[in-house]
Amino acid sequence: MRLLEERILRDGHVRAGGVLKVDGFLNHQMDVALFAQLAEQWHEAFAADNVNKILTIEASGIGLACIAAQAFGCPVLFAKKTKTKNIDGSVYTTKVESFTHGRVYDVIVAKEYLLPTDRVLLIDDFLANGAALEGLCDLVRQAGATLVGAGIAVEKCFQPGGARLRAQGLRIESLAKVASMGDDGSISFAP
Ligand code: 5GP
Repeated sequence: MRLLEERILRDGHVRAGGVLKVDGFLNHQMDVALFAQLAEQWHEAFAADNVNKILTIEASGIGLACIAAQAFGCPVLFAKKTKTKNIDGSVYTTKVESFTHGRVYDVIVAKEYLLPTDRVLLIDDFLANGAALEGLCDLVRQAGATLVGAGIAVEKCFQPGGARLRAQGLRIESLAKVASMGDDGSISFAP
């Protein structure tokens, strides 16, 4: 999506360790008019799939997922990161290794909000090593819900998550595909 690529080139910053900072419009200050245009792309891509629930993970996916849910006319559920040791039977739980924080989180969703009848679209801001999406896929599987696919704003194609998850059969619609990021701050995109 040209618009998102141009915004990344204008306002994104390459950081050490293959991190792209987009705090000006996505991860801290949020450009909701841009979000609506991203949501429209996902809505077009998944229009025939009868999505009735959007699932994301806190925190940075929530804003995008809310605007996407408006386009689909359905609720958003976000997987919560938890420190609670004694997780009871009322939740589905899985483990996710955070790319940006370098630690493993337990994430949960309440069973009452993720149902076998749900047709779920995953939404997240970034796809890097794929741990966040994989965790969300696991929660959908545990619930016996139907996984329609995933809408991602920025996929970093030089990290292995996208290729691995597509090979497993997950449909992923990424709106900007970063092919490379240079030490000089340069960014190139894959088609
Ligand atoms: P993954 O689990 O695919 O390795 O990483 C996905 C999560 O890590 C996203 O939800 C996002 O919050 C964060 N993330 C991964 N790479 C980047 C990046 O380059 N920039 C930012 N801002 N977040 C990232």
